[in-house]
Amino acid sequence: MRARIYPLALGKIIKHALIDPGNEIAGLLIGKYLKKNDVLEIWDAITGDQRSTPGFVYLHEDTIAHAAEWVIRNRPGLYIVGWYHSHPGFNVFLSAIDLETQKRYQMLFPKAVALVVDPLKYSKTGKLSDLRFSIFRINRRGQVVRVPTSIGIHRRKLLESTLKGVETMELKYINTGQEAEVEEYEVAVNNDEGGGERSNFPIGSVLKKFKDRFIP
Ligand SMILES: [Zn+2]
Repeated sequence: MRARIYPLALGKIIKHALIDPGNEIAGLLIGKYLKKNDVLEIWDAITGDQRSTPGFVYLHEDTIAHAAEWVIRNRPGLYIVGWYHSHPGFNVFLSAIDLETQKRYQMLFPKAVALVVDPLKYSKTGKLSDLRFSIFRINRRGQVVRVPTSIGIHRRKLLESTLKGVETMELKYINTGQEAEVEEYEVAVNNDEGGGERSNFPIGSVLKKFKDRFIP
C-alpha cells in the first residue's frame, strides 16, 4: 500500500504541530482508500479535545465520535483513515503506546495509517529540510512499516481537497485598526449586485503600488 497526502491536509497538520511545538498534538486523517491502485488518500485533517504532555497525547473518545459524525455530514464519500500526532524533538517512529493505538485504528479500518510529524527543528530554523514526517502502519506480521508516501498531484482532487479543506481553515487576517475600511470590504465581498461598493476596497491601487515587487 502507498499513501498520497494532499498539500492542504499536510499543511494543516504541520500548522497544528507548530501552534505548540513543545507539546504533542494529535488529530484524525480524513480520506479514502482506492482499492484498485492500493492507495490510501489523505484529503483533510480534523482535530479536537485532547490530553497532551511533551511525551504523550491522546484524543478524547468524544472527540473521535464527534469527528466521525462531522465527516459523515460534511465530507461525503470520505471517512477517517487514520490519525496523526507529533513527536516534538524526538524524531518520527511509533512508540509502544502508539503501536497499541494504531492497532485499534486498524481494527476499525484495516487500511488505517498513523502520521507522525516532528516539528521542533523546523519551528526553529524554518527550513523545509528540517521538517520530519512519516506515515506508518502495522503489516500482517505485526511489524511497524513505513508507508511510501507522495504529496498529491492528481489535479482535480488537489483542487477539490483544497476547496473542501479551506472551509475549516482560518484565513490570515491583517488588522490595520481601520475598522471602517474593513466593514466596507466585507460589504463589497458579500454584495453580488453592488458593483459600486467594490471600488471602496482599493485593491487596484494596492496592486499597482506593489506591482514592481511581485511582477518582474
Ligand atoms: Zn508517539
